[in-house]
Amino acid sequence: MKKIVVLGAGYAGLQTVHRLQKLVRGKAQITLVDKNDYHYEATELHEVASGTQPALKITYPLADVLDPAVTTFVQAEVVKVDQAKKQVELRDRAALAYDYCVLALGFVSETFGIKGAKENALEMTNIKQALAIYDHIMEAMRKYKKTKDKKYLQLIVCGAGFTGIELAGALAEGRATYAKEAGVAPKEVKITVIEAATRLLPMFSEKLATYGVKLVESLDVTLLCGAKIMEVAPEKVIYEKDGQNESLNAATIIWTTGVSGSPVVNASNLKERRGRVVVTKHLTDPDDDELYLLGDVAAVMDETTERPYPTTAQIATQMANYAAKDLAERINTGHHLARPFTYHSKGTVASVGNTHGFGVVGKTEIKGYPASFVKKMIMNKSLYEIGGVKELLAKGRFDLYH
Ligand code: NAD
Repeated sequence: MKKIVVLGAGYAGLQTVHRLQKLVRGKAQITLVDKNDYHYEATELHEVASGTQPALKITYPLADVLDPAVTTFVQAEVVKVDQAKKQVELRDRAALAYDYCVLALGFVSETFGIKGAKENALEMTNIKQALAIYDHIMEAMRKYKKTKDKKYLQLIVCGAGFTGIELAGALAEGRATYAKEAGVAPKEVKITVIEAATRLLPMFSEKLATYGVKLVESLDVTLLCGAKIMEVAPEKVIYEKDGQNESLNAATIIWTTGVSGSPVVNASNLKERRGRVVVTKHLTDPDDDELYLLGDVAAVMDETTERPYPTTAQIATQMANYAAKDLAERINTGHHLARPFTYHSKGTVASVGNTHGFGVVGKTEIKGYPASFVKKMIMNKSLYEIGGVKELLAKGRFDLYH
């Protein structure tokens, strides 16, 4: 019986296991490793950070998805993959031997070595960090009540990529709750996004990007563009704008300037850049055909732009579907699938608060409430695909009509 070890229970890892369980029953034993015993919807972390949704709404137990006849779950932290020995090293546990390994350990925050960012800004890459952000905001509001120091009412989001924009929208939605805690009018709670680029959301047409910017600004969020963050000091962001150094004080500083793949990729001595490996057409490591790299740790080249596709839940899920089929094919026939992996983008939608958003579906640009509706449908589809009816009914978004 072949041993398949899957590392990470995010979109890529959990979907791989979900698919594989049906395809290799009786022919392979699967081991899933994750430090948590639950899956979380990483695309919705901003809702937990802002307090607009409880953590339970975006998480579910792995046990709900795993078939114990085929899959064993090991709750542990992965240290590295030792390709020569074909084993996975775990913290404080015995190593796991494999015939095939699927590395799908997701992303961490990228600080680009900016001074003070790690120490003085809050990261938002997992449930614990998202909950810590919400607690931090509410604590700041209580401190305002005691001290009347305005820095406690200022929230800064560093970076206006998709994550920063979605977070700013969610914070605007949470503003009334924060203001109540601080005993002030909602407009007293200030939300500022600091972004280096002057043209936001470059993946969208100028018209759609302008719509997105106006939508965020209409929620009384200040977008400071062309402002490159140089340093984060305690409760202060220092940035360069028009050749001048400027700064803004805030008790809450959240870091969303981009992501890199799991540090396990580097620890495993793979040929990587920012934690991502340019994978083969079968999604394996170019130097090791038994090691698959999926999701945020993989770079799949887009032949039209000659750049890697952006890391998203959508591409991670498609990679998982392919890898599960390819692994099953190898176990059944000894060969890879004849067809290579190809990515079919269904579009990109960003939510701005619970009822607005913008994006592209197919070739059609969508805005406002319809975009928010589509985003909820995308999330429901993902819940259903991996978690089935149970998770869809428990965690799905059915507040579709307003
Ligand atoms: P990103 O890299 O897309 O955006 C980071 C932003 O931070 C950029 O606009 C960049 O210019 C800015 N920045 C970087 N350094 C800076 C500095 N020193 N000072 C000021 N600004 C700085 O990162 P992200 O938003 O975390 O997204 C990561 C990936 O996840 C992307 O591929 C994104 O498309 C995807 N994502 C998708 C969705 C969705 O589909 N709804 C939501 C969130 C994230």
